[in-house]
Amino acid sequence: MMVLTKKMIEIRSILQTVGQSNALTLPSIVVIGSQSSGKSSVLEAIVGHEFLPKGSNMITRRPIELTLVNTPSAQAEYGEFPALGLGKITDFSHIQRTLTELNLAVPESECVSDDPIQLTISSPNVPDLSLIDLPGYIQVVGHDQPAELKQKIADLCDKYIQPPNVILAISAADVDLANSTALRASRRVDPRGERTIGVVTKMDLVDPRRGASILNDRKYPLRLGYVGVIPRVPAQSTSLFKKGSGSIASAITRNENAFFSAHPLEYGAESGLSVGTTTLRKKLMQVLEQTMSASLQSTSDAIHQELEEATYEFKVQYNDRPLSAESYLAESLDAFKHSFKEFTENFGRPQVREMLKEELDQRVLDLLAAKYWNKPVTNLLPAPSDPDSLADLPKADPESLYWHRKLDGSTSALTKLGIGRLATTVVANAIQTNVDRLISQSTFASHPFARQAITEAAAGILNERFYSTSDQVENCIKPYKFEIDVEDAEWARGREHAAGALKNELTAVEDAVKAVEKTVGGKRKLKDVISFVDKARKGEVIVEGGGASGAGGFSSDLLQKGQEALFLSDRATLLKFRLQALKSTQCASKSNKYYCPEIFLDVVSTKLVSTAVLFLNVELLSEFVYQFPRELDVRLGRGLSHEEVERFAREDPRVRAHLDVIKRKELLELVLEKMEGVRDLETSKRERERAR
Ligand code: GDP
Repeated sequence: MMVLTKKMIEIRSILQTVGQSNALTLPSIVVIGSQSSGKSSVLEAIVGHEFLPKGSNMITRRPIELTLVNTPSAQAEYGEFPALGLGKITDFSHIQRTLTELNLAVPESECVSDDPIQLTISSPNVPDLSLIDLPGYIQVVGHDQPAELKQKIADLCDKYIQPPNVILAISAADVDLANSTALRASRRVDPRGERTIGVVTKMDLVDPRRGASILNDRKYPLRLGYVGVIPRVPAQSTSLFKKGSGSIASAITRNENAFFSAHPLEYGAESGLSVGTTTLRKKLMQVLEQTMSASLQSTSDAIHQELEEATYEFKVQYNDRPLSAESYLAESLDAFKHSFKEFTENFGRPQVREMLKEELDQRVLDLLAAKYWNKPVTNLLPAPSDPDSLADLPKADPESLYWHRKLDGSTSALTKLGIGRLATTVVANAIQTNVDRLISQSTFASHPFARQAITEAAAGILNERFYSTSDQVENCIKPYKFEIDVEDAEWARGREHAAGALKNELTAVEDAVKAVEKTVGGKRKLKDVISFVDKARKGEVIVEGGGASGAGGFSSDLLQKGQEALFLSDRATLLKFRLQALKSTQCASKSNKYYCPEIFLDVVSTKLVSTAVLFLNVELLSEFVYQFPRELDVRLGRGLSHEEVERFAREDPRVRAHLDVIKRKELLELVLEKMEGVRDLETSKRERERAR
């Protein structure tokens, strides 16, 4: 048994997954021949099946790296295209169709491609062999073929017939050997005929004496010799074999035996000639085994060197740090969960309360602006500090029903705002935003798949809890829609908080005025514009035309800015008055609430927030903190297959490179171990031979 070849073929297929490196290419048998020389027939006779593309204009456009694997104990015969992942194909006509499609996929303009098709055929009836089928040489370029086709094919063949490969040069007996393109090509790279096997087909088409003289060729003597074959399935047997099924090997052998034994003088044992596909197969096995054995040392050296390079890279680039796709995912997930935990420690009731209060403060300011501050400002003022300017304005009368209704209306607008929905949205958005932030700060940032999985996990939980939470919150604040009791302490806190909110608002308004000032081109200019706009408002100046062309020497754009600034400075004046009011003794007591709607509404909003927070915490926040890590485990942990984890890890180029080095190193180590085994085998074989 040819153990060496088998082992080396195994090694080759491992090396192929490491990535093609020329230094590591193990010897193959390269099959060349001109079109119609019978090249396909020879290959099919060796395999025992028809599987190569046929048809008048079907030329092979890509090399086929054909690996034959002898499986002595198995029944089944099948082919595999490792690069395509189609699985085991037992129907050889399916293999033929696939090869045809792969050939046709090469664009016409490219003629031929040097990207090889890898095909492995496993069968108890094939020898362990590694063959490369190349496009057949063409003599004349067909009218529908590109002119450079001939040269391209020759160049492609030249690439493959280099040492240490064995050349199987196919020629037909009915064509003068001197004209054989295959032999001429082979002679160029192997002038002393050391690694060429001459195969002469169509022996049945020439007179036996002529046939014998061809096989005895002395013009180009080959150390490995010539073999005469008739690889064609005899016509009468073809009907017995459905296309693509059943072995054709025995029919061919029977036919060859019949032919050659009919001419014992020319082809018999005495003649010393090699004939028949069975002989050819044996020769191929022997030659490949010898060639493999001869290249053992150089291959082993090359692998050693590759391994050293991979080891060096692993050390220098990755500090010998082990990594697997699984460990990478697990570590990333742990780190992410850890960061989430940290986040939850700083995102509890106090934070939610603050967030909601800020949101409601804004709503209260909007309400105040709509219900109170749209009136002449001074009607909410305490005793006028400047009697001249303010004396003629009405004051909030605590007895007046008007002011009662105003405050009741404002309060009910606040309690009926849809607090449940609003509060739940605010908190859900905050959680989602923080999850997004955590993702972008984590290793998952560079993994689109994981990013999406995490975002969806968060959104899923939040969506599921949304309606029940918002209903619960809304239900619980219901009593405030009917009655609100205020304690003295609450009033005092509200007074302080409302003053703070107004101050913040005042700062914001003043900043806005400054921003307008800047766009207009200075304080002075803005003052001029404001004074013009103010006069126009009071009717002291007549604005003619107005509109797009502007007025009073100001452009319409400038006038608009002036109006904006005027509004803002009115608002600032008002806020200052109201701040003064809050500080006044009138606002110190809750009994004066009609004077001080800012304080009363602040107290109400604080009550709403406190109640909402209780339920948000239970219904949304705690639930999320509990469910989210579990959901992550499902989506990014247990739920993923090995392939998915691998794909995930490889999304990050740095991780991919790291994993590749490790894989390469491991495979090379495995290969080297196998190589050592093969070499031991060889050594003991040689010792046994020597002992004999
Ligand atoms: P390729 O173009 O080199 O692959 O050649 P094929 O294997 O397709 O063979 C070309 C033609 O020659 C086909 O019709 C085969 O049936 C025929 N052929 C191949 N070998 C023999 C042979 O030994 N004897 C005869 N008579 N015909 C053969």
